[in-house]
Amino acid sequence: MGGMKLDLEAMLADLRALVEIESPSTDLAAVGRVMDVVEGWARELGARARALPGGTRQFSFGVEEGGAERPVLVLMHADTVWPHSTLEKMPFRVEGDRVYGPGTYDMKAGIVGTFYALRALRNQAAQGGWPRGGVQVLLTPDEEIGSLSSREAIEAAARGARAVLVVEPPVADSHALKVGRKGVGDFRLTFHGVASHAGNKPEEGASAITEAARAVLAVQALAHPELGTTVSVGLIQGGSAVNVVPAECVLDVDVRVSTLAEGERVTAAIHALKPQDGRVRLEVEGGLNRPPFERGPQTERLFAQAQAIARDLGFEVGGEVVGGGSDGNFTAPIAPTLDGLGAPGDGAHAAHEHVRLDRWPDHVRLLTRLLQEV
Ligand SMILES: [Zn+2]
Repeated sequence: MGGMKLDLEAMLADLRALVEIESPSTDLAAVGRVMDVVEGWARELGARARALPGGTRQFSFGVEEGGAERPVLVLMHADTVWPHSTLEKMPFRVEGDRVYGPGTYDMKAGIVGTFYALRALRNQAAQGGWPRGGVQVLLTPDEEIGSLSSREAIEAAARGARAVLVVEPPVADSHALKVGRKGVGDFRLTFHGVASHAGNKPEEGASAITEAARAVLAVQALAHPELGTTVSVGLIQGGSAVNVVPAECVLDVDVRVSTLAEGERVTAAIHALKPQDGRVRLEVEGGLNRPPFERGPQTERLFAQAQAIARDLGFEVGGEVVGGGSDGNFTAPIAPTLDGLGAPGDGAHAAHEHVRLDRWPDHVRLLTRLLQEV
């Protein structure tokens, strides 16, 4: 397996096919077109394919319903953060050792690499079949917008799995896998004040902007960087005209936590906020969208196994805890989870998004062996 042959040209052609179908999370039909291509690959390999409620597709390779051995679960998403027509300014293109384009690194190359790993396993099937318990693949439609429609399917699949491998990309510009992720919260704070003429009757007004300004500082003061907790008010909008005491102001807040306890502390504090001016009413929406994926002994064991395989294949992988969330956040509390098993590169959600062609095959070989040996 160490010398497993990979046809990089064919991998690139498959990647191009997926990247050139633009699939923003907000367009379920477009995301479905990517899924159709992937389902074709799965069926060619003899998978059982099922469409689950919410738009997720499940592909089963050698999984026995009610079998004694539980399958390995592979998580992947077909959506990207990129709107339609991004390809016009960011076309799929190869430059030296890099392949650029929207969704290459996050995470269409992760999908393609998984199918090359599965093909390699299938080709060995003559000598004993799929890994014990088989491989279950979930392809989801909405990871980039919080996985609201796929979370249930992901958690159910994790409950039946002996390990979860997430083919999100490795840490940017490195060989490092993801052994933990912060939990992610989104909050919206809407301040309803009282409008009034700012020159004639300012005293009759109650400024939503003033209260929001206090809240920006109060909310950000909840950060606790030593514990991994960050809080950032990323959006603010308010007021109707410069000469009107503002009746409305809205804040959108991004929260990241390394532990559930911190998530609960920050959530409670945000919900307990009270405007100083009693005439201003505050409405709080949101909460912790993804629980933290805490670095734990089960993940450590998987990571140690990945490290040993990589070393055997002739390269080193690191392991890092990152701030961004993924669907691995949902599975880590349920089953041993290792993330970052997709294609190495850089520039997720950025104009220079790309995959490193010189490093990609090694990571596909690593995934192949992990699927086989976990
Ligand atoms: Zn992703």
